[in-house]
Amino acid sequence: MHERIYLSPPHLGAREEQLVLEAFRTNWIAPLGPHVDAFEQELCAYTGAQHAVALSSGTAALHLALEALGIGAGDDVWVSALTFAASVFPLCYVGAVPVFVDADIRSWNMDPALFVDALHDAARRNALPRAVVLVHLYGQCADVRPIAEACAAHGVLLIEDAAEALGATYEGRAAGTFGDVGFYSFNGNKIITTSGGGMLVTPHPRVAQRVRMLATQAREAVPHYEHRHVGYNYRLSNVLAGIGRGQLEQLEARVAARRAVYARYDAAIGVLPGIALMPEASYGRTGMRSTRWLTTLTIDAARFGADHETVRLMLEAQQIEARPVWKPMHQQPVFAGCRVIGGSVSDALFATGLCLPSGSSLTVAQQQRVIDVVRSCAAIEPRESERADTKSAAA
Ligand SMILES: *Cc1c(COP(=O)(O)O)cnc(C)c1O
Repeated sequence: MHERIYLSPPHLGAREEQLVLEAFRTNWIAPLGPHVDAFEQELCAYTGAQHAVALSSGTAALHLALEALGIGAGDDVWVSALTFAASVFPLCYVGAVPVFVDADIRSWNMDPALFVDALHDAARRNALPRAVVLVHLYGQCADVRPIAEACAAHGVLLIEDAAEALGATYEGRAAGTFGDVGFYSFNGNKIITTSGGGMLVTPHPRVAQRVRMLATQAREAVPHYEHRHVGYNYRLSNVLAGIGRGQLEQLEARVAARRAVYARYDAAIGVLPGIALMPEASYGRTGMRSTRWLTTLTIDAARFGADHETVRLMLEAQQIEARPVWKPMHQQPVFAGCRVIGGSVSDALFATGLCLPSGSSLTVAQQQRVIDVVRSCAAIEPRESERADTKSAAA
């Protein structure tokens, strides 16, 4: 039996071990400590962000972003429709009302034209959202400029969910540094990991200060325990920040490795009829870099000869983990009844999309196993339902 190939496993080295050991040796096992401060500074230096706060997860970062920006009960917040549910759950924690905005087929990210039109329309109806959560999907930046400009013109706050996009750039600037708040995730499957963790970045010193305060049980800066707000226990521990520092040193190498994985898939699978890898958007400008956190593709079953689910099951039978593309938020039972602007592009991407193993530690030999299985699927007879579809399409 083959060893299992995972979608995006953690990839750690000796440096992380050394930094964690340092935390042990100096007895900094508490939350907070020198690694936390250094991790924040190093992330600021890497991304060009002005302020950073290390937190227990990306989800916690979004939750505190909403709290610190004063977004709460009854406030409309527009969110990318094609994303992971953690881009939306924190809105529910504070009682905000999510409205989903469809993706653009050229980037799989929020459609800027659709967004700008809808925002102007909302302004005319006096129904502007308080904020937008703009997701940078699978390691690629959304088309930030037109979206940020429309937000600024209408006084709408911009939050960037860069959980999947640390290392990605847009116009040469780091994902997450365009909005009022941005955040990254260091969950085990992300491009760098602390096993679990997150980081909030912001250009606003008062937002950073408030997030820090709320994340540490809302303690006021006095010697005794004084609380004027409801707080959270959301800080990253010093041990995990040590792992994060070691990981951050490797980030450029990790990006290069994931891009190399993508390039090999593109050469071996991207050329097959009916297969289209997620495009690398240029938005007509320079300075774009996708990290290719995950290599994702769509499969036109009629042309390829097998649908995405058949391919996934064939991979699974060979101990290879592949996953469907994120199920759009407007299709999620938990968000039933929420408004969606557009939606058909996200629906089509979910209906045909697949994510392939893309870890930075994936070897060429392992990747060849994945490629061989996918290529072998091209010869599979289409399922009954597709055959019927093809016939009716031909009729
Ligand atoms: C992983 C992820 C999150 C949540 O980050 P956690 O650190 O796991 O809480 C949020 N948004 C997106 C798009 C993600 O992929």
